[in-house]
Amino acid sequence: MQPFKALLATKGPTGQSLAWQQLALAELMEGDVVVRVSHSTVNYKDGLAITGKAPVIRRWPMIPGIDFAGEVVSSTHAEFKPGDPVVLNGWGVGETHYGGYAQMARVKGDWLVRRPAEFSAAESMAIGTAGYTAMLCVLALERHGVTPASGPVLVTGAAGGVGSIAIALLAKLGYQVVASTGRPTETDYLKGLGASEVIDRAELSKPARPLNKERWAGAVDAVGSHTLANALSMTKYGGTVAACGLAGGMDLPGSVAPFILRGVTLAGIDSVMAPKPARIEAWARLARDLDRSKLKALTVTHPAADVVALGSDIVAGKVRGRVVLELG
Ligand code: NDP
Repeated sequence: MQPFKALLATKGPTGQSLAWQQLALAELMEGDVVVRVSHSTVNYKDGLAITGKAPVIRRWPMIPGIDFAGEVVSSTHAEFKPGDPVVLNGWGVGETHYGGYAQMARVKGDWLVRRPAEFSAAESMAIGTAGYTAMLCVLALERHGVTPASGPVLVTGAAGGVGSIAIALLAKLGYQVVASTGRPTETDYLKGLGASEVIDRAELSKPARPLNKERWAGAVDAVGSHTLANALSMTKYGGTVAACGLAGGMDLPGSVAPFILRGVTLAGIDSVMAPKPARIEAWARLARDLDRSKLKALTVTHPAADVVALGSDIVAGKVRGRVVLELG
């Protein structure tokens, strides 16, 4: 097989560096399925890995990229055969196992999910880990009994990837969505995705009171820190907050009051090690519940060569919605 292009992150005495290189298949890590990667994406975590702002990469050298879409080239795994369309999210790919910023990948078949027929490879990476995580959050709200009749649902980090897809999903499912953003210029964009109200994220970024006026029945929080504490303190009796992110900080400076006085549930969402049935359910629900015209409206496409600049942009909060990277 021909050599292929891969972005290799290496660590030297002066720190981390990134360079596109030609690799041979034999240089990939172990696994029972080889995938020709056509698309990947830039999630917040990819930005942290690319900029080195957080220790996402835990093995050197590394091919970053926590997710990819492509076609199976060869497989000794019972579930997959050459030609199968697949997606991969997480499992330490791009952290401890060579990831998505390469034209080829070798991974465990157990990590792969068959790409739903409703989505092209590009669309599946427009969704990417951010969108699949947004779906896991919506599923958690449903599991805890938050319905459109319960009241509005807050989405924080609204103009980002998780936020944009969460809004589109919730609106399609009939929820009234309150979008919290630091980018008031994106109000039309957020309303176009289905938000019925857009609030300034400054309303949620100051230290939270233990309890505050009840404003929403649920929340999808991509921000953490004071924002999560405020989201909890303003959640209605019996409501649920699905916490998946830390774009505003990893701390949780709040009170137990929402839990013990209002029976609020804090549902933790992890996409990386989520078991396969949960992934299959999330991708099936995305195929059913994500409006593809909204997906198109929230996506921009870039050549893979732009990934390093995009990694800095996403950490700086400059990326709107989702980015697809073309690797083919
Ligand atoms: P994005 O950068 O696309 O979105 C994050 C958004 O958060 C930004 O667009 C911005 O929205 C808001 N934001 C950024 N910085 C701050 C800040 N300092 N204070 C308040 N709000 C801020 O990232 P993703 O959507 O890819 O990921 C969102 C979060 O979810 C990340 O923390 C990521 O690590 C996490 N995540 C977790 C997963 C899991 O398995 N638990 C999986 C996927 C993502 P706006 O401009 O509208 O205010």
